[in-house]
Amino acid sequence: MNECLFCKIIAGEIPSQKIYEDGDTFVFLDIGPVSRGHALIIPKEHASDLNSGTEEAALATMRTLHRIASRLLKSLGATGYNLGMNHGLDGGQDVFHTHLHFMPRYAGDDRKFIKNEVSPDELSETARIMREGLES
Ligand code: 5GP
Ligand code: ZN
Repeated sequence: MNECLFCKIIAGEIPSQKIYEDGDTFVFLDIGPVSRGHALIIPKEHASDLNSGTEEAALATMRTLHRIASRLLKSLGATGYNLGMNHGLDGGQDVFHTHLHFMPRYAGDDRKFIKNEVSPDELSETARIMREGLES
């Protein structure tokens, strides 16, 4: 667990662009976004994937999505979103701590799932806008 990248992000040992946090979940921007505002919603409880974790962690992840998605879309000017979860090596999972990809979509979006290189400044500005959206 100590070697888990996302546990280190939750603990603040590795920096991230945090969007939201509550007792059970943590939300931060993906460093390789497929769309502006691409965020990862993760349970704080470590488990390598959804089905290895508790039902509570799974429900908390979806509860957080339900709580924040509309306000995040509004703040970004996004009009839809995609969700994704890569499960297991053969499912394309790279980081073995449960995470739900939240990918905002925009009018005219090509809806491709291709990672983009984004500067730290751009990521930080996007995170600021999303955090502000959650304050309203
Ligand atoms: P997976 O392929 O496991 O579903 O997705 C892992 C995601 O984590 C990828 O989209 C990748 O860009 C993201 N990621 C990997 N390392 C880091 C990191 O150090 N910080 C952040 N914010 N995201 C990361
Ligand atoms: Zn972990």
